[in-house]
Amino acid sequence: MKNKTIIVSNRLPLQISIENDNDVKISPSVGGLATGMKSVHQEGDSLWIGWSGLTEEEVNPEIQKEINTAAEQEKCLAINLTEQELDDYYYGFSNRTIWPLFHYFMEYTKFDEEQWKGYKKVNEKFAEKIIENLEDGDTVWIHDYQLLLVPGMVKESKPNVTIGFFLHIPFPSYEVFRTLPWRESLLKGMLGADLLGFHTYDYERHFLSSVSRILRHETQFNEITLKNRIVKVDSFPMGIDYEKFEQAALEHFEKTQDQKSELQARLDQHLETSPGSKMILSIDRLDYTKGIANRIRAFEHFLEKYPQFKEKVRLIMLAVPSRSNVPQYQKLKREIDELVGRINGKFSTVSWTPIWYFYRSMPFDNLIDLYTSSDIALLTPRRDGMNLVAKEYIATRTDLSGVLILSEMAGAAHEMNEALIINPNNYDQIADALKQAFEMPLKEQKARNKIIQRRLKRYGIKKWADEFMKALEGTKVNHISKK
Ligand code: UDP
Repeated sequence: MKNKTIIVSNRLPLQISIENDNDVKISPSVGGLATGMKSVHQEGDSLWIGWSGLTEEEVNPEIQKEINTAAEQEKCLAINLTEQELDDYYYGFSNRTIWPLFHYFMEYTKFDEEQWKGYKKVNEKFAEKIIENLEDGDTVWIHDYQLLLVPGMVKESKPNVTIGFFLHIPFPSYEVFRTLPWRESLLKGMLGADLLGFHTYDYERHFLSSVSRILRHETQFNEITLKNRIVKVDSFPMGIDYEKFEQAALEHFEKTQDQKSELQARLDQHLETSPGSKMILSIDRLDYTKGIANRIRAFEHFLEKYPQFKEKVRLIMLAVPSRSNVPQYQKLKREIDELVGRINGKFSTVSWTPIWYFYRSMPFDNLIDLYTSSDIALLTPRRDGMNLVAKEYIATRTDLSGVLILSEMAGAAHEMNEALIINPNNYDQIADALKQAFEMPLKEQKARNKIIQRRLKRYGIKKWADEFMKALEGTKVNHISKK
């Protein structure tokens, strides 16, 4: 029989909902990871294991059966979680310990033994499901910070299986990572993999330094020598489905007046009534790592420092609701609401509101409307593993116009040197970058964007997945030659 690949992530790439009590609706999700894994999942012999998105309390056995059958058709296998497990593992340890700590928000990091136990238990659940479905010669690719212990658990019971792990968030510096009471266990869990992938070389370096200082393993370039095997570590910056965004933008410009969305009609109307004015766009999940509050304060500073731009710019801010049952996210929501209200109250005139704020998610077509209508994108994360929005904005600029202002704290900044790179805590620098963006000659915009576009096109999401799989296959050769 042909060997298969098992993909493992916290969530399955499926949207599952129960309507009218008993009617199960399932559709494939279209997120970045699902797209990236397409070549591995849909075109290859594979199985995807993950949580369905529903808790055990929400489904009865009959519905569960229906979900399983529907998931099977998509080559997926659902893990069931109780509300308590979800609270401890996901909202707890994953999002109140690892997420803040790995993004350098130490003051938000909770060290809670119960949540750690819940995290371990759910990681075991995932590992058991993988092991149940494994056959000799199979490959496993595990994703992200919710499942750091899984590689070690699988390796322990199936030492001959090839395991890859990719971390989608930053790996912090040793000085930050060492504060975790469970630092050894987490590192040992990760080292169950034969290949560990990170977005940037910096994250990779931080990881290697933690491994050598905490576990005292020998590390060389991108290899870690364990007692009986070698673990490879490398960086694979995740790209986007470039052609999808480029194509959508081209089609957007072909649309007739009555094919345009309501949002686009409003954006057009705004541009018609205020000629010469420019739109600044920001899109992110409402997360404290994204630097939304500093962005608004920097925008306020810009309007104060350069009052000539009043009534000439508008900040369109899309914040997508996220993890809203974690207290820090609720607090952040209130802070942003207040800030937007205060700035709009301070600067608005009868014909101008400086910030248009949307707190919701938008369908793909509307995202394209926003990307293509905005002269400037202002992305100011305080920390961000990658930031795909930055890449999507550039991919939709089919006429090469537009200016990207991007935080140096985003992984994406490493590949986008031609953007205006800023420090998200430096409001004065952001104000100056906004002025520079507003005044940048079209020729310069085009020259900068052309270089970034070429780079993004070359290293798209499919390439990212293929390169990782190729490197993972390469570790098999290592195994064999070492035997
Ligand atoms: N996005 C979306 N719906 C929205 C707004 C954004 O699906 O209403 C997408 C956006 O196109 C991008 C992703 O969400 O692909 C955000 O990815 P990013 O790496 O920027 O940040 P993350 O949320 O993963 O931290």
